[in-house]
Amino acid sequence: MYIRDNIEKLRESIENVYMEMGVKNTLKLIAVTKYVDIENIKAAVACGIFDLGENRVQELSVKLPAIQGANWHMIGHLQTNKVKNVVGKVALIQSVDSIRLAEEVNKRAGKLNTVQNILLEVKTSYEETKYGIGIDEFENILSEVSILPNIKVKGIMTVAPRVEDESLARPYFKTARDLYDKFKNVKQRNIDFEYLSMGMSGDYKAAIREGSNMVRIGTAIFGERNKKELHYNE
Ligand SMILES: *Cc1c(COP(=O)(O)O)cnc(C)c1O
Repeated sequence: MYIRDNIEKLRESIENVYMEMGVKNTLKLIAVTKYVDIENIKAAVACGIFDLGENRVQELSVKLPAIQGANWHMIGHLQTNKVKNVVGKVALIQSVDSIRLAEEVNKRAGKLNTVQNILLEVKTSYEETKYGIGIDEFENILSEVSILPNIKVKGIMTVAPRVEDESLARPYFKTARDLYDKFKNVKQRNIDFEYLSMGMSGDYKAAIREGSNMVRIGTAIFGERNKKELHYNE
């Protein structure tokens, strides 16, 4: 089974990075299931993958009820009008990139009488990533978000630009790490940093070396997917 082999190889590769660093492996591995069908997602769960990430609300809504025993993560750009389809259903919304979106998540979580865990997505490169909070506006946004009672900020997510050699992504990861370190000891009722989510198939080693404790891996687990294979109307 290629998925089992891929996961085994990936786990070994991650373990090697920690061995090189001489620190204990405390990484949380999120399998990114975009364009992956239910059967292959189940194969990954059968290998002990308990955290799954989707970046489209429509795909999430189809897959979430079909997979038992996993925590779901919303990792893609979220429009405010789709927030209601996600809040209360996923363990973590990783892609909160504006105060407006945070307020909508808070409002919907309030209606469900729950607290939604989120990460704030930061933009660590200028041209290449579309979404994310700028480094210089982060502190202001965090303080605005800190008064919203129905969300809890569990940390920071970032997507590094695609680069030839993954070591070239390290400065972007370091920027996110520095920001994470600056606020990780702030303990308020709804600020409790625990996760620094960074690293994908092409750059997870660099991300771990810069202090990531949560990686989001699609291709290295499921292979290249045909984007047209699964088509849900949005
Ligand atoms: C697709 C995606 C990933 C996984 O990317 P791979 O290169 O397939 O590992 C991680 N994070 C986000 C936000 C994504 O959209």
